[in-house]
Amino acid sequence: MNIESQRIEALRSRIATACRAAGREPASVRLLAVSKRQSAARVRAFYLAGQRAFGENVLQEARAKQPQLANLDIEWHFIGHIQSNKTAELAGHFQWVQSVDRERVLRRLADQRPADLPPLRILLQVNIDREPQKSGAMPEQLAALAELAARLPGIDCRGLMAIPRLTGEPDLARDSFRRVRERYLELRAAGHDFDTLSMGMSADLEWAIAEGSTMVRVGTDLMGPRNTAPGP
Ligand SMILES: *Cc1c(COP(=O)(O)O)cnc(C)c1O
Repeated sequence: MNIESQRIEALRSRIATACRAAGREPASVRLLAVSKRQSAARVRAFYLAGQRAFGENVLQEARAKQPQLANLDIEWHFIGHIQSNKTAELAGHFQWVQSVDRERVLRRLADQRPADLPPLRILLQVNIDREPQKSGAMPEQLAALAELAARLPGIDCRGLMAIPRLTGEPDLARDSFRRVRERYLELRAAGHDFDTLSMGMSADLEWAIAEGSTMVRVGTDLMGPRNTAPGP
């Protein structure tokens, strides 16, 4: 087995252990490889080892990498802050946008999704700990955003994404994940057919899985340390 396959295996077994501890099926958690500040060559190596979904948080960096990987059947996820004037590129070049947090962005993505592509899968990002500098809708804004998303052609809203405050305290992270899940269940109870709860990264995926995460976004624990400067 090559090194990329070994890393994928190791992470899958970490996920499986967390699932077993939570009484869940390992297959109920998808793995998004966060490839920010990793080279296109590295993305290709992980693709060849079987990984299909990759996440990027800087649009220009992702758009520089994508042409080098155009012959691969990669599922691209955008997970970074969205500038309203960049929505057309997101709508045209990603399968998922996980960081939708306001009406203007939602409407623009819907308008700009090319008609020959399936509806853009999105998640609503929630700023669960109400951190002033952080992206994400406030919890009380989610219901209106979800209602709007459900009415917009070109958009397929699948659930929620969250990045809890970084405290280094597992108990606090777990409490944040629990509150995200409560919102997710409320929206499902209101009739939204959500199936994706994107939470958990290298440092805290066990807690996220314990609180119902269906997609963990893992960078360093899968692909290794990142380059210091952004770039393809
Ligand atoms: C960088 C990043 C991750 C992955 O972080 P790691 O600690 O490297 O696993 C996950 N989600 C988002 C939104 C990120 O920006």
